[in-house]
Amino acid sequence: MDHFLYKDGVLCAEDVPVAEIAAAVGTPFYVYSTATLLRHFTLFDEALEGIDHLVCYAMKAASNQAILKTLAQAGAGMDVVSGGEYRRAKAAGVPADKIVFSGVGKTAAEIRLALEGGIRQFNVESEPEMVLLDATARAMNTVAPITIRVNPDVDAKTHAKIATGKSENKFGIPISRARDVYRLAAKMPGLKVIGIDVHIGSQLTDLAPFEQAYQKVADLTEMLRAEGHEIMRLDLGGGLGIPYARDNQAPPLPSDYGAMVRRTLGHLGCEIEIEPGRLIAGNAGLMVSEVIYVKSGEGRDFLIIDGAMNDLIRPAMYEAWHDIIPVVEPEPGAEQAKYDIVGPVCESGDTFARERMMPPVASGDLVAFRSAGAYGAVMSSEYNSRPLIPEVLVRGDQFAVIRPRPTFDEMINRDTIPEWL
Ligand SMILES: *Cc1c(COP(=O)(O)O)cnc(C)c1O
Repeated sequence: MDHFLYKDGVLCAEDVPVAEIAAAVGTPFYVYSTATLLRHFTLFDEALEGIDHLVCYAMKAASNQAILKTLAQAGAGMDVVSGGEYRRAKAAGVPADKIVFSGVGKTAAEIRLALEGGIRQFNVESEPEMVLLDATARAMNTVAPITIRVNPDVDAKTHAKIATGKSENKFGIPISRARDVYRLAAKMPGLKVIGIDVHIGSQLTDLAPFEQAYQKVADLTEMLRAEGHEIMRLDLGGGLGIPYARDNQAPPLPSDYGAMVRRTLGHLGCEIEIEPGRLIAGNAGLMVSEVIYVKSGEGRDFLIIDGAMNDLIRPAMYEAWHDIIPVVEPEPGAEQAKYDIVGPVCESGDTFARERMMPPVASGDLVAFRSAGAYGAVMSSEYNSRPLIPEVLVRGDQFAVIRPRPTFDEMINRDTIPEWL
């Protein structure tokens, strides 16, 4: 559920008409709903009620400072995957003991940054990382708390570009090697092994792959404990999918997910961490764009809009579906027209939808991309010298620009000219 509904015939973000924001900031732009962000965080938090747990929002999904602060104030921890994200989390006021550090390529500088600033744990993804982390911690006279990310070799049944839990993926250590790697880690004085980490992929629409993976984690916990390791924390990753199309079958709810976690892992007495990203931010954001031209083609009409693949890359990158709706509510039973919906960028991949049925729209009309809150603004670029589009946060009847659109001069003057030119 989200808070983007038609009210009195116009699309609103909570209580603010989307057209009002468009008039203030221009198009295209992203708009997020505070109530939706908080609702999704709370659903997860409540799903694990009664278990010692922390919801660490995977901030790579949407990492604007205002979004982080909204979630941090509600009690969320953060899952970070770079020094930049670590700094963003700290800047938004997230306490160090609620930040977990994931990622396959943590550099020495990033490790030092987190050891200096404090960290809940590193989710270690390889033996060379373990060696570097141990050496860095010892050099700093400290001890790094770690989990080791295991790759459980399960098929997440999601898009290949966001599956991470098969043996051919670059993430984690093969679960079959876990015994040896934990033995090695236990011998390193700069490390304190506290648990196990797993994350099998993103946009999972079925609980079965999670359950398979968590069952393997349960077995591994017992095995490692028998070997003398103190396994007290299980980081279960993120990955629960969201409904991108309104008429699709809905993916499992956080409450179903929570029940499955209890069933598979509840008896172990471990503290549980989860790292949802998409499910918290995805349906909490829209991208709003204006129709520039309606161009008649052979057998189809093209809707050429002012948003493009550089603003929202998911359709080009993952063949992702976004519902695209007019900002003025269509009459009930209004006729539908068939469009290819495209942006102005000089790539055929700059196509948001093909042969999409929607109510007829005209040049100057606003359309909204639903479910654009996660992996939207964070993946945008200035390709074709199109300045990054602004982000807006709504709360009730108020809205605020949380990242302004750069001016053309700001964009151009980021480049510097060598003195010989
Ligand atoms: C991307 C990622 C997540 C979040 O995945 P979602 O599908 O957005 O929930 C969580 N943990 C790790 C390690 C990730 O890389």
